[in-house]
Amino acid sequence: QWIFLDEGFVKKEDAVVSVYDHGFLYGDGVFEGIRVYNGNVFRLEEHLNRLVESAQSIMLDIPYTKEDLEQIIVDTVRKNQLENAYIRVVVSRGVGNLGLDPTNCSKPRLIVIAESLALFPKEMYERGIKVASVPSRRNRPDVLSPQVKSLNYLNNILVKLEANQAGVDEALMLNDQGYVTEGSADNIFIIKNNVIYTPPVYLGALQGITRNAIIDIANHLDYEIKEAPFTRHDVYVADEVFLTGTAVEVIAVVQVDGRKIKDGTPGNITNHLLSEFRKVVTSDGVQ
Ligand code: PLP
Repeated sequence: QWIFLDEGFVKKEDAVVSVYDHGFLYGDGVFEGIRVYNGNVFRLEEHLNRLVESAQSIMLDIPYTKEDLEQIIVDTVRKNQLENAYIRVVVSRGVGNLGLDPTNCSKPRLIVIAESLALFPKEMYERGIKVASVPSRRNRPDVLSPQVKSLNYLNNILVKLEANQAGVDEALMLNDQGYVTEGSADNIFIIKNNVIYTPPVYLGALQGITRNAIIDIANHLDYEIKEAPFTRHDVYVADEVFLTGTAVEVIAVVQVDGRKIKDGTPGNITNHLLSEFRKVVTSDGVQ
């Protein structure tokens, strides 16, 4: 396996970074997770825009243009001869001293990892997953916007730990007003009376690229879809609930805080959207 590190490809065993890298010392950096389906990089442009915007927000100058990044990502997939893959792009602040001031860091570091995909088990999609709600530990938008995919994912890790403690598969975050925002690494949708709802991102959710794709697909299929705030109660009494994300794609949620959603099996609209999503991903992307 070949990994792009700084300026070239190195073997996985040699892909190591300095302990003085501020990505390691302080979580100072940004990242993206991207999928490759049948040799096509899905919505690469959107992922690169989000990466560049995350970097801009934290005053990190990525030493590559978007075109360079696109080429490096495609080359990494090719070099590893992958048809279906998960790509992780990391840009860290780079090597500095032990002080946290980023002006001490010489040069941002770029890492691109492409791996063959560890797919989630098929049963998970057939059965659906269980989630538990937790108070959000996402940063307030006036501090570090939830739109920034920073290397500081400790808040999300904490909610995932709570889900593990509760014996469920994923956590559902609530913002400080009690509105449902998202999962630890996925967006949420609910369906009530054939209308699909997802929280507006200003409530504190990442503008997920899978979320965007599902909104496009739902519109294309003539489903009514709305961005609107909702509470846990609305989730408990929904007809269907599902999560979306690059890794998980579209997954039904069949239990929330011990409440069974309808008959406790994945709903028809969720299944329809998942199958359409899988059709779209194989035909849409950068080759
Ligand atoms: N929300 C958070 C906090 C995430 O980290 C992710 C994963 O990237 C998502 C939602 C889903 O976004 P996407 O569909 O772009 O992967």
